Amino acid sequence: MNLIFLGPPGAGKGTQAKRLTARLGIPQLSTGDILRKAVADGTPLGQKAKALMDAGKLVPDEIVNGIVDEALASSACAKGFLLDGFPRTIPQAVALDEMLQRRGCKIDRVINMVVPTEVLVERLSGRRTCPKCGTPYGKDSPPKKPGICDKDGEKLVARPDDEPDRVRQRLLEYATKTALLTGYYKARGVVRDVDGVGTVDEVEERIIRALK
Ligand code: AMP
Repeated sequence: MNLIFLGPPGAGKGTQAKRLTARLGIPQLSTGDILRKAVADGTPLGQKAKALMDAGKLVPDEIVNGIVDEALASSACAKGFLLDGFPRTIPQAVALDEMLQRRGCKIDRVINMVVPTEVLVERLSGRRTCPKCGTPYGKDSPPKKPGICDKDGEKLVARPDDEPDRVRQRLLEYATKTALLTGYYKARGVVRDVDGVGTVDEVEERIIRALK
């Protein structure tokens, strides 16, 4: 199954993507996680992306399109994939169509996670993330041991772009560029809106129902 998770920052895409990919046995392709790793490793890609990411702005389409095209070429994606955080602009969605057409596949479902802005702001301000595997933790999904990642024991950190002024910029980028994508995919009948407010288990069950 080839899936896209759409939704504003803080909607729970990363948390739910990690659960769903484990359940379905398909990889999560998170452009944010890939870019953060490139920044941490100090690669040329990371150096280009860092200032934009820190400011809460989108990285240029050509850069993220290249990352996704390369990731889709991996044999791990042969049985399906879950795109988390991509596409974020109409040109990215057009580029994705072209990548999938070349590989003879298509998007089966777009899960659009719907969460009110005040809940997003509250979630992002309390969010802590594992710098190694990217797993996010918050009030609704706390780690078993405070401040420590359940998966790899790393110390959790606040993402620089979760600072209040960057959050405002990211929500603006979402509203002006990414929100348009639901219309792009709705015309194909593949979009399912999912209420993203509730416990992580509740939202997961709604997503599972939306995939049927
Ligand atoms: P995320 O982890 O999905 O919230 O992404 C964190 C940051 O990475 C975003 O604020 C952007 O700066 C950058 N980024 C991630 N995915 C994309 C994308 N598809 N297009 C442009 N920038 C992206």
